[in-house]
Amino acid sequence: MRAENATVTVDGNVLAGLLSDVLDGDATSLVGTCAGCGAEAALAETMVEIDEAAAIARCRSCTHTLLTVLRDDRGVRVLIGMLRELRRP
Ligand SMILES: [Zn+2]
Repeated sequence: MRAENATVTVDGNVLAGLLSDVLDGDATSLVGTCAGCGAEAALAETMVEIDEAAAIARCRSCTHTLLTVLRDDRGVRVLIGMLRELRRP
């Protein structure tokens, strides 16, 4: 007998559609959850420290670093910090 919701393992290509549902569009409207304090807020509402090399987005409630965007000779990269969850509202 087969369970109706059996888990299967496939390669990461299956994530393309799922991730685009969250990441496509205006990134600043995404709502993040801070792993430090549990606060939820749109990325547009975070505090951002920025210079030529990096933009550090901090939780407005507890100031933990949620994520950092780096710009250097390797291109643009995102380092995930205390960002527990990111969702499209
Ligand atoms: Zn926080």
